[in-house]
Amino acid sequence: MNAHRCPNDHLTYPGHARCPDCGEPQDDTVSLADRTAEIVTWTTSTATPPGVRQPNHLAIVEFDVDGQPVRALGQLTTDDVDIGDTVTPVHVDELRDPDAGIREPESQNWDGYRFEPA
Ligand SMILES: [Zn+2]
Repeated sequence: MNAHRCPNDHLTYPGHARCPDCGEPQDDTVSLADRTAEIVTWTTSTATPPGVRQPNHLAIVEFDVDGQPVRALGQLTTDDVDIGDTVTPVHVDELRDPDAGIREPESQNWDGYRFEPA
């Protein structure tokens, strides 16, 4: 998972073609995969779209990249967490069930990251 950076050092996750802050192209990336983040808030969704696990634990987490905060929304591996806990991204092959979608499974990327207590 990569945050994207513009020439003016603004960071976002996910990335955008142009920086939401200043409009410059975001042509640099910073890997977040080996960093830790802090849980800003989290919730559990019990009514999820087809193919998404139920219940689904979701969190907004904040990475500190050289003093600059970068927030990301993602799934948690567990509901045994509190606001302020430190988590680390873990790669999973399937964030959703490829067989439950309306799209051709081969046309999509199913892998991604969940956040696990560090
Ligand atoms: Zn910018």
